[in-house]
Amino acid sequence: MTPLVIRNGTLLTFGERCDVFRPGAVRIENGVITAVGKMEDVDTRNADVVDAGGAMIVPGLIDAHTHLYGTLARGIDLPGAPAETFREILERLWWRFDELLDHDSIRWNALAGMTEALRCGVTTLVDHHSSPNAAAGSLDVLALAAAETGIRLAAAYEVSDRDGPEKCSEGLEENRRFARRLDGEPAPLLAGAIGGHASFTLSAKTLSRLVALADETGRPIHLHMDEGTEDGEAARAEGFRSTAHRLADLGVLRKGAIAGHAVHVDGDDIALLAEREVFVTHQVLSNGANAVGRSPVPALLDAGVTVCLGSDGMCASLAPEALAAGAVHRMAEEDRSIPFDLPCTLAWIGNARLASTLFDPAPGELRPGRTGDAVIVDYRPPTPVHRHNAAAHWLLGVLHAPVEQVFVAGRRVYGHGRFAEVDQEELARRCDECAVELWRRFEEKA
Ligand SMILES: [Zn+2]
Repeated sequence: MTPLVIRNGTLLTFGERCDVFRPGAVRIENGVITAVGKMEDVDTRNADVVDAGGAMIVPGLIDAHTHLYGTLARGIDLPGAPAETFREILERLWWRFDELLDHDSIRWNALAGMTEALRCGVTTLVDHHSSPNAAAGSLDVLALAAAETGIRLAAAYEVSDRDGPEKCSEGLEENRRFARRLDGEPAPLLAGAIGGHASFTLSAKTLSRLVALADETGRPIHLHMDEGTEDGEAARAEGFRSTAHRLADLGVLRKGAIAGHAVHVDGDDIALLAEREVFVTHQVLSNGANAVGRSPVPALLDAGVTVCLGSDGMCASLAPEALAAGAVHRMAEEDRSIPFDLPCTLAWIGNARLASTLFDPAPGELRPGRTGDAVIVDYRPPTPVHRHNAAAHWLLGVLHAPVEQVFVAGRRVYGHGRFAEVDQEELARRCDECAVELWRRFEEKA
């Protein structure tokens, strides 16, 4: 593979120390970054050179928690009165929608979600998949779609007891099978996790099986935790102080585990999450849409928990999530000491840390040794850019500017409105056909 140099743009490295090179350049060899710095210091010998033309060069973004399977549910009709509980939203919408999915519709959902993500500069998806009537082989369908679009994917199947013991075992087996496949044929753009739905739909026995599978495969557990009040109510009914204590007692809360949401957690739970080195993913727009409450992100960060930024499948772009995460905690707590750059702590630092546990080499920063996932964004800073104000430029400018070119492991997968291997018009037509059919069957099940 010919080395690639992307140069002549304002380059942000992200990470705990976000260096700025203006103009800067990055050199990528065999998918791995070998040099980053001022343009004149980065060697272009023997390389394909991409001139960013003065635009921004930033790392590809990581969506730390998403659900590709729900992409074609966007705009679906949900008649009747608004749901009274979070569980009712799951029952009326998501548990009804995921039952309809077969491998064909999983594929169109995935391709739609992946191409949207890439167009928004998101190059890594940490996905949590559910298709109870087509579990076997479903993660391979996602992996194939990832290969077609060029995106980086960490896949997990959402195990649950809600559909009975047989479906539960099928979900566990799909996670096992996919992990073994990756062991047998390593793919640098793919990773596996062991998915679980949420504490309240997982018995102690099933959670123990998830833990055993995580041990067997060496993969992290990825599940929802305290998104609504249901997890806590179920844990207390079993005599536990809280969901965190139930999950900790059963060995689920462990180093590297990924807990989505953590909305209904108190100081004691937060201490447990910090002590066990669990990643928490934050999806404030989803929490708002489901009216479940607000995760105590400032307190989680203060306690030393690594908090990551995800989308929960709501919106392919991370821009709205980042802005909302920045605003909502300051607004709700009327606390001006909550850092303005809180979203960067999540998206730049938390997400890169999480990605380091899933991929080797890992995405998330433009640094030597990291993988070459980079994006050129047509943002022209109207004011000086430096290390101490890079967050403001990213949050208020870069995130809202057009994405011009996207590189994953040094390969251009999207450029100037076109994908390397996806016909967007054909894709849109097939997705629309698939959605119409899914929606028709969804309505029939009402
Ligand atoms: Zn979720």
